[in-house]
Amino acid sequence: MLKDQDRIFTNLYGMYDQSLAGAMKRGHWDNTAGLLANGRDWIVDQIKASGLRGRGGAGFPTGLKWSFMPKETDGRPSFLVINADESEPATCKDREIMRHDPHCLVEGALVAGYAMGARAAYIYQRGEYTREKEALQRAIDEAYDAGFLGPNACGSGYQFDVFLHHGAGAYICGEETALLESLEGKKGMPRMKPPFPAGAGLYGCPTTVNNVESISVTPTILRRGPEWFASFGRPNNVGVKLFGFSGHVNTPCVVEETLGLSMREMIEKHGGGVRGGWKNLKAVIPGGASCPILPASMCEDAIMDFDGMRDKKSVFGTGCMIVMDQNTDVIKAVARLSKFFHHESCGQCTPCREGTGWMSRLMDRLVTGDAEIEEIDMLQSVTKQVEGHTICALGDAAAWPIQGLIRNFREEIEDRIKARKTGRMGAFAAE
Ligand code: NAD
Ligand code: SF4
Repeated sequence: MLKDQDRIFTNLYGMYDQSLAGAMKRGHWDNTAGLLANGRDWIVDQIKASGLRGRGGAGFPTGLKWSFMPKETDGRPSFLVINADESEPATCKDREIMRHDPHCLVEGALVAGYAMGARAAYIYQRGEYTREKEALQRAIDEAYDAGFLGPNACGSGYQFDVFLHHGAGAYICGEETALLESLEGKKGMPRMKPPFPAGAGLYGCPTTVNNVESISVTPTILRRGPEWFASFGRPNNVGVKLFGFSGHVNTPCVVEETLGLSMREMIEKHGGGVRGGWKNLKAVIPGGASCPILPASMCEDAIMDFDGMRDKKSVFGTGCMIVMDQNTDVIKAVARLSKFFHHESCGQCTPCREGTGWMSRLMDRLVTGDAEIEEIDMLQSVTKQVEGHTICALGDAAAWPIQGLIRNFREEIEDRIKARKTGRMGAFAAE
């Protein structure tokens, strides 16, 4: 378990002063110019050595991503874009950073932006995050007033600006290329990749898109050293991270913890345990709505990190868990997610536009038991036709929860169809 002295987010619960003065008392903005003086390559190498993997859900190595930014840019400016469009159902970890520890993000923007030779950072923030917008804008203004941002950031001689952009509430704008389109004032529709943003990003310029948490942890990693960060967790899955607990836990919360603990340990220590005790657990969606749902039998020894979740045929994602107790209708829960993905599809590519509708309608029939048993396999086949055949990851995200449900709860689906046929629907009859 993480000790207090190893916490990066020193004001995660809003107990202390979030102003610049308060943040500086807790060690943020301490000799930032000294960090920059070590040079671009040093910063990128330190982040590579720390083993930090992107905290937005995909887990791409952060230092490696930064190293894709060109050193020479034929006169085009380079940009850092910070993805603060946190919209994954059950994920609200970045919200806590922006709400209570915004200076971690603003200082991180300068350090990371410098490392990739960026002229400015654009923070694209979820439209619904109103209080967070105020808190973050206040922190940006304070940093300008203190000379930490602007023409001579922190007295380093480096010019760096930070702009906050408020989104309009579309989930798809969290996809990095849709986000760039939206920032440019166009409809938020994903672009084909490649080219990746480092080659052609915002306004066609070299751009790196990083998650709020990935950027916020970088100054502390540089101050404490990559070895310190890499000492938590296990190889390929290192560091400390924010985790979320929602659903049927006794104490829903967001906490900072090390990677590599078991799901049970974490739910019991931080989530206050499952409502009604561990034996009352039915299922967990481990890291956001797109991650395949795991039955209780697989949760006991599941390790909460990238490899641990892959071993269980699920995905670590954002590490924000949705816990479901025995009273949960898991078929209905996944059907609800299917509706969400159908609604949020931008409609640009056929497998996603049509497939999410198909999947959602079939899921609705599984909820009431009105489908035929053979349709379970048909649904599985539709998910396979969507997965990997779309422009962006929303198609995969819509397919995976259903695949997890069929893999892990097939008996329950079949029982419901049989019950409907024999007129023994019980609680589901009224649905
Ligand atoms: P991805 O794996 O395609 O890319 C991850 C990052 O690595 C991107 O920045 C991408 O540009 C970069 N990258 C990948 N391959 C590269 C290459 N060959 N060269 C250069 N750069 C490369 O994933 P994604 O579509 O960006 O994100 C999907 C994830 O987002 C899902 O796993 C889901 O968990 C997560 N997600 C999070 C939220 C949230 O609110 N935090 C919302 C929706 C989805
Ligand atoms: Fe749009 Fe869906 Fe295609 Fe993504 S996968 S580009 S959301 S239609």
